[in-house]
Amino acid sequence: MRAFAEIDLAALRSNVAKIRERAGTSRVMAVVKADAYGHGLIPCARAAISGGAQWLGVALLEEAIAIRSAGIKARTIAWLVPPKSDLDIAIREDIDLSIPSREHLVDVISSGRKVGVVPRVHLEIDTGMSRGGVLKEFKELVSALKSASDRHEIEVVGVWSHFARADEPGEPMSIDQLARYREALDYLLVSGLEVKLQHMANSAAIFNDSLTSLARFDMVRGGIATYGLSPDFKMMGNSNSLGLKPVMTLKAQLQLVKEVPAGSSVGYGGTYTLKSDTKLGVVAMGYGDGIPRNSNDRAGVFVGGKRAPIAGRVSMDQFVVDLGIDSSAKSGDLVTVFGDGTTGEYTADDWAVASGSINYEIVTRIGPRVPRIHLHHESDHS
Ligand SMILES: *Cc1c(COP(=O)(O)O)cnc(C)c1O
Repeated sequence: MRAFAEIDLAALRSNVAKIRERAGTSRVMAVVKADAYGHGLIPCARAAISGGAQWLGVALLEEAIAIRSAGIKARTIAWLVPPKSDLDIAIREDIDLSIPSREHLVDVISSGRKVGVVPRVHLEIDTGMSRGGVLKEFKELVSALKSASDRHEIEVVGVWSHFARADEPGEPMSIDQLARYREALDYLLVSGLEVKLQHMANSAAIFNDSLTSLARFDMVRGGIATYGLSPDFKMMGNSNSLGLKPVMTLKAQLQLVKEVPAGSSVGYGGTYTLKSDTKLGVVAMGYGDGIPRNSNDRAGVFVGGKRAPIAGRVSMDQFVVDLGIDSSAKSGDLVTVFGDGTTGEYTADDWAVASGSINYEIVTRIGPRVPRIHLHHESDHS
């Protein structure tokens, strides 16, 4: 096969178990938005549940609906559902919704009435990130939620917020966000709005020792860690040191291997000049598959037991690697673009460094031209 991504569901289940360990008695939500960070929504959602996650979290309504269409009944929340969305399906399909404003609440209430089902909602609070969540209108929104709840027009299931800098050990902003969150919880209490499920921690907070026990509340939301990657390997240590197993291994074939003389320039713009005679490999993958175009030679592929760095610019469907003059690689050989790093291959972290990005983006941007091969389904017993 030209290019494919192997998805190790046994590794995913083991990562969820690790998250559960860090979560203590709190529940675990596996975040499976953006096609499970590029790993394939449905197989990953199923594996996360069999690994011990009680909840699923997604951004979009379509993602939540896809989960229900696959017959997955686990509690699921969608938190990026703008006003004027078709909420009737969401409510009928028992999907929890996030409420960051009055506009959102009005829509949910009117859809709930139409469908004849009480919608389940989670109040979303901005505790300092200035992205999602209610800020100045917090008290007005609480009072609107309280009266709607008293009229049985909604069920307020949860209250949540999100960290901006939980990957930075000792960062005071996280402590400040926690203080604001607790203040909001106190206000809910005095307002008489009972909310059972408090959730705030992302992977960084789950694995940041100084935050874990302060931030886990009733439930944690594990995204990147579910896929075995570190929220920030420079600040918090890599997958291995966190006890996580990278789930995706990206592989591609060599379209061509050939000798090229010293002095030749490689690729568009001639940005790379060969210092000596060498063998180049043309990898059958490019930015049309999600390989970052601006990657430099700190990434490449693993072939024949060694690393072959990128030579020149990444093209749409291919990129060139320097195999070295002694390489025995041949046209058609399968190479590893990134994996868990245990045998010496490049990792998603290496590709992030090579392209000035983060591992989240490296795995999530792998495109639809690349089939995902899911291995070690629970029923395989392998
Ligand atoms: C994406 C997301 C998460 C998961 O974040 P990670 O850093 O991948 O663990 C948690 N909560 C919300 C609201 C998110 O959007």
